Amino acid sequence: MTYRFSTPALPLIVLTDLDGTLLDHHSYSFAAAEPALNRLRRAGVPLVIVTSKTRAEVARLADRLESPHPYVLENGALIALPPGYFGEDGGALIRLSPAYEELCAWAARIRREKGYRFRGFADMDAAAVAAATGLSEEDAALAKARDGSEPFIWEDTPEALQAFSADVEARGWRLMQGGRFYHLLGRTDKAYAAEQLLSHYRELPGEPLRSIALGDSPNDLPLLQIADIAVVIRRHDGSWMDAQVNGRKIQTEGIGPVGWNEAVGSILTELESTHV
Ligand SMILES: [Mg+2]
Repeated sequence: MTYRFSTPALPLIVLTDLDGTLLDHHSYSFAAAEPALNRLRRAGVPLVIVTSKTRAEVARLADRLESPHPYVLENGALIALPPGYFGEDGGALIRLSPAYEELCAWAARIRREKGYRFRGFADMDAAAVAAATGLSEEDAALAKARDGSEPFIWEDTPEALQAFSADVEARGWRLMQGGRFYHLLGRTDKAYAAEQLLSHYRELPGEPLRSIALGDSPNDLPLLQIADIAVVIRRHDGSWMDAQVNGRKIQTEGIGPVGWNEAVGSILTELESTHV
C-alpha cells in the first residue's frame, strides 16, 4: 500500500519527539494524545516523528500510530521516506550520516590507537544493551539494529573525552550528548534532518505549511528553534527544559502526551477558525 502525500486541509506539519513528548515517560503510551492525533489524521496533516530511535523501533510505532508519513531517525542520521510519498519511485532511506559500519570501524580504531575507554552498542550484546538502557531484551535488539549513529558509554576521564571529541571533530563528524549515552554520528542533528525534509514539502504547490515542533529535552532544542511554533512539553518531574526560541513558544501544563494533546489541540482550533 503506498500513500502519496497531498495538501492537507490545514496548512500545518507536526514534528515531534517521542519519549517524554508524544509517548508517556513511564508507559510509552500515546493514548492521551489520541484526540489531537485523530484531528491531525482527519485533516491530512503530516505527523513527522523526529527521534533518536532506530528504523526498526519506529516502524512498529508508526504502524500503531497509523502514520504513513516520513520520519527522522537516530538523532538526524537518517530520513525514512515511504515508497511513493512525494510521487517518486520507491521508498528511500536518506542518509545524512556515514554508514554504521564506517562509524564503528573508525571508533574502534581510534580507541585502539589512543587507548580511550568507552563501550558502544556494537561492543554489547542485546542483554548488555537491555541492562544499560532499561529496555526489554527484545526492544534492545531493535535499538541495536542501527543505520547511521553509534551510542556509547564513556568510561574514561573528562580529559580523554575532550581529546576524543577533538578527534571526532577532525574527522568531520560530531558527538551528541544524550542522557546516559553519547552518540557518534555525521555532521547532522534533528533540526538539520527536519530541514531537509521540510524543503521537500516546501516544493509542493499550495499554502506553505507552518511547522510545529514538540520536544522535552535539550537534544530537541535545535528542532524547536527551526519551527514556526515551538512546544516545550512538561516533563514527568513537573519541570520544563530551558528553551530560547525565535518564534512562538508554548509551554504545556500537561505532562508528556497530555501536554502534546493540549498544545496541538489548541493550535488546530486556532487554525480551523481561520481556514473553514
Ligand atoms: Mg524526549
